[in-house]
Amino acid sequence: MARKIEPDCRQCRREGRKLFLKGERCTTKKCAMERRPVIPGQHGASRKRVTEYGLQLREKQKVKRMYGILEKQFRKYYDEAVRQKGVTGENMLSLIERRLDNVIYRMGIGASRAECRQIVNHGQITVNGKTVSIASYIVKVGDVISIKENKRDLEMFKQLKGMKIVMPKWLEFDTETLTGKILANPERADIDTDIKEQLIVEFYSR
Ligand code: SF4
Repeated sequence: MARKIEPDCRQCRREGRKLFLKGERCTTKKCAMERRPVIPGQHGASRKRVTEYGLQLREKQKVKRMYGILEKQFRKYYDEAVRQKGVTGENMLSLIERRLDNVIYRMGIGASRAECRQIVNHGQITVNGKTVSIASYIVKVGDVISIKENKRDLEMFKQLKGMKIVMPKWLEFDTETLTGKILANPERADIDTDIKEQLIVEFYSR
């Protein structure tokens, strides 16, 4: 199975912004973007000229890395977004945002998307009462997301009890019952405003 091999912090430095790939470390002074915010490599600090194509490519890479998605799958989201009604870029972001690993990340169940992906892969999450171990599973409005009954005693889940978690308005998650719900589809305003999805659409439609 294909997988990413570039170290997390190096990916942030390449994209010139924090992608929050390492959970708690990302908000501390140990973050590589705090200590050395330059493009990796011998000439990283001196690279300046960026073409239009370069801008589009970097935006695509940034979002792929942020959500931890490989190229083939990312392209599929674009193709699916083109087929849907509405604005292609927003459709694409909505699809990516509704991936199960991202949903539980937004609910605060794990500290990073990578950790949430692992939680899903290990069969610790149920959707409407059934175990779903596919991180790319796309949730829909009304779906009930829970931590599996026999996994709730794990320390990482016990810690959630009573915690106040700030999450987007399209989601709810009760830290007492460890159960949440998809209240609506995410709107553009609910998703990272630093993403320029139009550049990604231009990249793929070249
Ligand atoms: Fe990126 Fe987090 Fe590493 Fe900082 S600590 S560079 S935000 S992955």
